[in-house]
Amino acid sequence: MRALRDRIAYEREEGERLAPWAVRSAASRGRVHEESEHPYRTAFQRDRDRIVHSRAFRRLEYKTQVFVYHEGDHLRNRLTHTLEASQIARTIARALRLNEELAEAIVLAHDLGHTPFGHAGERVLSELMREHGDFDHNRQSLRIVDWLEDRYPDFRGLNLSHETREGILKHGCHWEHPVPVPEPTAQPCLEAQVADRADEIAYTNHDLDDGLRSGLLTLEDLEGVPLWKETLASVRGRAASRPAVWRAQTIIALINRLSTDLLECTAARLEAAVPRDVDAVRATPERFVGFGEELAAAFVALKRHLRETLYEHPQVREKNAQAEPVIGDLFRAYVSGARALPDHVRARFAEDGQMRAIADYVAGMTDRFAQSEHAALREGR
Ligand code: MG
Repeated sequence: MRALRDRIAYEREEGERLAPWAVRSAASRGRVHEESEHPYRTAFQRDRDRIVHSRAFRRLEYKTQVFVYHEGDHLRNRLTHTLEASQIARTIARALRLNEELAEAIVLAHDLGHTPFGHAGERVLSELMREHGDFDHNRQSLRIVDWLEDRYPDFRGLNLSHETREGILKHGCHWEHPVPVPEPTAQPCLEAQVADRADEIAYTNHDLDDGLRSGLLTLEDLEGVPLWKETLASVRGRAASRPAVWRAQTIIALINRLSTDLLECTAARLEAAVPRDVDAVRATPERFVGFGEELAAAFVALKRHLRETLYEHPQVREKNAQAEPVIGDLFRAYVSGARALPDHVRARFAEDGQMRAIADYVAGMTDRFAQSEHAALREGR
């Protein structure tokens, strides 16, 4: 046996291991700027590593998911959300004989474009950019990997593979973008479909966990949600006197149940339709990756409960309302010149336009950096 497994050997194994409808690294549609392949890493392993080593990825640690930054050190932020979602995606992709590294790369990049303060920040920024080409977090994720990261001598951005960018883009592109964008198809590849569902499984479950931990969600309220109630009943007896344990066990069982249902129902659909290859998947009007009907309905009810009780909770809304002026005041102060911009932002006015360069700068901020900039602005520092 040879001790070394190089990229060619790994690609050959992919050919045997993956389903015909999976994306094969060796068959990637390639990168915008041509590069020679790495001796030991496939195209998607390389994409994944470029994302993990990016500046935008590190900033995820200090960006809000639902709760405004550091209300508690145990609560999730965008980095921990991203890691949880990517592990779920890997499990599902592997079990479905899909390209695990592609699914992983897409999930690791999927939240890069989020503004500080979650959706509250995004709402303000899209309002401010309405007359200047608009703002959207999916588009911003692609903008970061295609344009804003600056690490290579021969091109801007990370020059990721077509398939990873296709997965990041999500809903097609109807705006100006500095490099050619993947052609929209009826559906993205299966690895991108897995990434979307893994994101949903991850955030629903960790929001339940964080919601209960923070006291914004209560067990009494959740009693009215059948999916929660059933799952809780299935685990409670094993640790009845230890609420922290049965609560954790309920979340574990729920992630497991959702992931298992998703991969079994998806496998059944694929086996029935037998798409010839990934292009056949892209041309199929309906997504293959999805839950069974019964669980899908129960999951919708659980998500509705979270929206009504947690995301719309007065305390969460109040925090969001406090975050809005931070983005608005900073943006306006940079535009008017009341607050000085760093040289690297001003240097981009000529190429990207003043408004876009400022939007990129503000969107890229972490919650705590935006807060400290805002405090400095108010105090005239
Ligand atoms: Mg997400």
